Amino acid sequence: MLNIGCHLSISKGYENMGLTALEIGANTFQFFTRNPRGGGAKALDMEDVKKLNDIYEDKNFATLLAHAPYTINPASKTDKTRDFALMAMSEDIERLDLLPNNYYNFHPGSHVGQGTEKGIKLIVEILNQVMKEDMKTTMLLETMAGKGTEIGRSFEELRAIIDGVEIKSKIGVCLDTCHVYDAGYDIVNNLDGVLEEFDKIVGIDRLKAIHLNDSKNPFKSHKDRHEKIGEGSIGLKAFERIINHPQLKHLPFYLETPNELDGYKREIELLRGLND
Ligand code: FE
Ligand code: FE
Ligand code: ZN
Repeated sequence: MLNIGCHLSISKGYENMGLTALEIGANTFQFFTRNPRGGGAKALDMEDVKKLNDIYEDKNFATLLAHAPYTINPASKTDKTRDFALMAMSEDIERLDLLPNNYYNFHPGSHVGQGTEKGIKLIVEILNQVMKEDMKTTMLLETMAGKGTEIGRSFEELRAIIDGVEIKSKIGVCLDTCHVYDAGYDIVNNLDGVLEEFDKIVGIDRLKAIHLNDSKNPFKSHKDRHEKIGEGSIGLKAFERIINHPQLKHLPFYLETPNELDGYKREIELLRGLND
């Protein structure tokens, strides 16, 4: 069975996301650990969390995906911004222990002119401070489109981060289809070749989750604008190959397409229909 869901708003709580997922035919979902643009996280309502845990168990959900806020930048050149990343990630990791089985996805960071090497060093420093042997979640580096000074635009950059991480059993990758296509990995015409390259550089067993997004922009545009499934430059045929690929089909897939709930419901139906 295809494990698929979409990004859901956390504003009405955890149980609400579980119920919403069921309504749209999803068996997993992604959510922001806190307001994606602001700072603070609300105290966990454990009653609410328990209700989501029950749904997760009863309905056999696949691993949930917690997404770190966009405001964190572990590769920043200001101490204050890096301190915020450290604080927010530590706090998120603690909270994620209490939620149903999940991965913790984050954008590696932007080096803001310091250079990729320096940026990677700063990211690694923070990861080694926030990661704990006994944490339940696994950290996922998201593959990035490479706009501005984003780190994570190539498999080599992801590999360099992983190399620096001490707790290797708790670090993986979330591949975003829009981002890798924009970054210059041709998942449309050469999916096998891209996965082979990923395996050679990062190791395919590090790949834990897929963000399924079409792209508004052409191949290698380094833009990062998501499009609805089948309506962008990646196209439906490529998504059919992705969800059925022997190296990918067991992974959880999360839509981050520009949709309201009804649109997500249609995309989930569409993709389930294409699942072998
Ligand atoms: Fe993301
Ligand atoms: Fe993404
Ligand atoms: Zn994106």
